[in-house]
Amino acid sequence: MFGKSAWNLGLEWSDEVVDKFKKSWENREKVKCPHCNKIGHQNGMTHYHFDNCKENPMYVLKLELLVCPHCGFKSTSRVCMKRWHFDNCKNKMNNSENKL
Ligand SMILES: [Zn+2]
Ligand SMILES: [Zn+2]
Repeated sequence: MFGKSAWNLGLEWSDEVVDKFKKSWENREKVKCPHCNKIGHQNGMTHYHFDNCKENPMYVLKLELLVCPHCGFKSTSRVCMKRWHFDNCKNKMNNSENKL
């Protein structure tokens, strides 16, 4: 029988190896966040977990609590605070109008 040609053998062999390689690669790459127990690939996990995990008590401390001096609104979201408070705060507008 001439059925098993070299390329066919090679393909079977590489499929098996690729599968094994994939599995070991996945196992090696997957990590578990100690704070929320989420399991995922290392690249994505390090961005949102471990030191940056929201369940990490140290992460909350790392966040700076921003307080608007005009209305006293508190938030850890810098984007939100800059958008709606500080120079753009409604209370600031009112205060400057009152002064004029
Ligand atoms: Zn986490
Ligand atoms: Zn404000």
